[in-house]
Amino acid sequence: MREFNYYRAGSVRDAAKRLSASGNAMLLAGGMTLLPALKMRLNEPGELIDLADIGELKGIKLNRKGAQVGATTTHAEVAENVELRAAIPVLPHAAESIGDPQVRNRGTLGGSLANNDPAADYPAVALGLGATIITNKRKISADDFFTGMFETALGRGEMVTQVLFPIPQRAGYAIFPNPATRYALVGVCVAQFKTGVRVAVTGAGASVYRLEDFEDALTDEFSEVALDGLTASAASLNDDMHAGADYRAHLVGVMARRAVAMALE
Ligand SMILES: Cc1cc2nc3c(=O)[nH]c(=O)nc-3n(C[C@H](O)[C@H](O)[C@H](O)COP(=O)(O)OP(=O)(O)OC[C@H]3O[C@@H](n4cnc5c(N)ncnc54)[C@H](O)[C@@H]3O)c2cc1C
Repeated sequence: MREFNYYRAGSVRDAAKRLSASGNAMLLAGGMTLLPALKMRLNEPGELIDLADIGELKGIKLNRKGAQVGATTTHAEVAENVELRAAIPVLPHAAESIGDPQVRNRGTLGGSLANNDPAADYPAVALGLGATIITNKRKISADDFFTGMFETALGRGEMVTQVLFPIPQRAGYAIFPNPATRYALVGVCVAQFKTGVRVAVTGAGASVYRLEDFEDALTDEFSEVALDGLTASAASLNDDMHAGADYRAHLVGVMARRAVAMALE
């Protein structure tokens, strides 16, 4: 690990100013991904800006329209939140499937979305629910936020501050975990709204993506049977030592059906 400055920001404004001013500063949230990357010298920032003291980035607020979750809210806090469990149970359900207790007690929602690991759970739930990612500069719909493998629409000097999750009529998230890492080999989030159904897939491709033909079928009829005859395309899916593209495509169909069954429970 190379030497770097450590700065504990006191507010979003302070952190953003520091981030914009420096050519190679990085934000530090839970450190679950960033610290191992530093150790392996995959990142070599000149400064780490710790978000831990910023009160305005923490917490969960609910109203009739949805939930607003602060960027540094940990996976454990999301998993244990009683109001979220009642209003949007798919969100705590996904949070409690992430990693192990240590990771859930340190890892944050904002860190996970900003990192956009192709096998991470939160990106699928954010895209499936049609969340809005709020930054210090603007609001970005989940449809526009995840732009590629480990890439997002965040620009220079921009940070996630809050995430708005609308309340679906019902939703489910099913994951087939990689037996070694427990990350999603394939995970599918299905969410039904008055306006239609959204289906988002993680683990299978280079980045999280939506499955429009599955969405159309489930909008017509929200049942597992509605997916009969539909298969996910294996084209451009990950094909590696963990699973071939055809197997991943098969798992997408299986996980989508399980997610629908969960939503109907
Ligand atoms: C052993 C292990 C197992 C795991 N298993 C899973 C799993 O099963 N499923 C899963 O989804 N994830 C898993 N993770 C990832 C983990 O859940 C964290 O979500 C993830 O590491 C990033 O969150 P963090 O808060 O630790 O961010 P950090 O590691 O602090 O930061 C990650 C990146 O995001 C940037 N960043 C952080 N916060 C912000 C912000 N507010 N705005 C903009 N950029 C920001 C940082 O600069 C950095 O580039 C696992 C991690 C470990 C170590």
